[in-house]
Amino acid sequence: MKDISLKSNVHELTELDKKHFLHPLTPPKMQYEQGPPIIVSEGKGVYVKNESGDTYIDGMSMLWNVNLGHGQEELAEAAKEQMKKMAFSSSFNGYSNEPAIRLSEKIASLAPGDMNVVFFTSGGSEANDTAFKLARYYWKLKGQQDRGKVISLSRSYHGVAQGSTSATGIPEFNSIVGSQAPDYLHAEPHLLDCERGDRDNEHYHKSVRGIIEQEGAENIAAIILEPVMGAGGVFTPPEGYLQALRDLCDEKDILMITDEIICGFGRTGENFGVDNWNVTPDMLTFAKGSTSGYIPLGGVVMREKIRDEMLQSEDVLFHGFTYSGHPTSCAVALKNLEILERDNIKDNVKNMEQVFKTELQKLEDKHQHVTKTRAIGLLGAFELYKDRNKEEPFDPEVGAAFKVVDECFKRNLILRFIDWKGSNIVAIAPPLIVNKQEMEDIFKIIDEALTAFENAFDSF
Ligand code: PMP
Repeated sequence: MKDISLKSNVHELTELDKKHFLHPLTPPKMQYEQGPPIIVSEGKGVYVKNESGDTYIDGMSMLWNVNLGHGQEELAEAAKEQMKKMAFSSSFNGYSNEPAIRLSEKIASLAPGDMNVVFFTSGGSEANDTAFKLARYYWKLKGQQDRGKVISLSRSYHGVAQGSTSATGIPEFNSIVGSQAPDYLHAEPHLLDCERGDRDNEHYHKSVRGIIEQEGAENIAAIILEPVMGAGGVFTPPEGYLQALRDLCDEKDILMITDEIICGFGRTGENFGVDNWNVTPDMLTFAKGSTSGYIPLGGVVMREKIRDEMLQSEDVLFHGFTYSGHPTSCAVALKNLEILERDNIKDNVKNMEQVFKTELQKLEDKHQHVTKTRAIGLLGAFELYKDRNKEEPFDPEVGAAFKVVDECFKRNLILRFIDWKGSNIVAIAPPLIVNKQEMEDIFKIIDEALTAFENAFDSF
């Protein structure tokens, strides 16, 4: 009896979803015809359940954000307490509230150097758009209004608002309606420098320095990058890269913004991604991990010099979101950061990073198509090649990464595939509370999925 009503509930939800729910980052036709692959109904730790009661391991922390895992009751309690007391109040016109005040102080204490001032948003895209506007505003206040251009890296992901879409270096995001705003420039990932003056060098025009010199530093407001590139394929920068970029920004007087929306709050084993390389940017943006995804929140942390410039005039800062400094979001974030410290989550990340790397190496040793395994903290990936020794990619028709991730899904493990011009990448980013047994379970399933993929490969 229970089974039948369960099935009819799943059926009803599927039909309603198909009819009314337009999903982000999903082919609308496929969704309309097939409905959702999973209707997630509850979660605990690294596990989630679908409407029919089947358990899955969430190997991606959903969207790299559910850092403390699912079903964390203290976060729910923090939201409930704050909502009962005062769910919402404005931050406009100087109005304030205690959770926002305490959270800004807490985040300032975690951020490097004199990054002591926080502007809150509702999410990551808004945070990056805010950072671009504040960078331009900073230069305007300094009498350099021509400094309007923003450099980002191709393959980067910065969100889907106007500025953040334009900064995003994954062309598909700008292709649906050609939404690229002017003044956003893309450099080759991690290609910093070329011989000065060697303008014939094929890489010159695509290097960060090349772009700065072609455009004129006096026209550039900021450079933005993810310390570890996420959606573009999980790429860690080469050793020394971030410091060299910092030096270049200092040399050319350009603001350095790091997008810490995935890396922030423990994902890489440090407070922020930049802490792995001891670099202090001028602004950093955060979202996801600040509340472990329990409630929307994002923001920009900036060095004091950015705010100090605003103190030179009496002008209003004409920028702000209804939910900037949302008390309930801030209360959840405060609890989230308290738990991160109390439960030594960063230590767990560092310990599990070792297990992660060992398991990735085992995959590479066993499976002939697997290579370029990498992990920093609990952010990792592997790549699939037809012939890994020659780096010969699979035919795009094969959809190799998609197939492997699909095989994992059939075995109740959620991962993410990244296809980029023929490269096939599988991303793995479990909640930061994952334990050794759960890591091993994740890799056991990946191992089985790869075997299934390999066995089927002859028929492709
Ligand atoms: N920057 C990075 C690095 C991200 O990973 C994301 C989200 N995936 C964003 C920005 C955009 O954040 P949001 O989806 O909250 O707008």
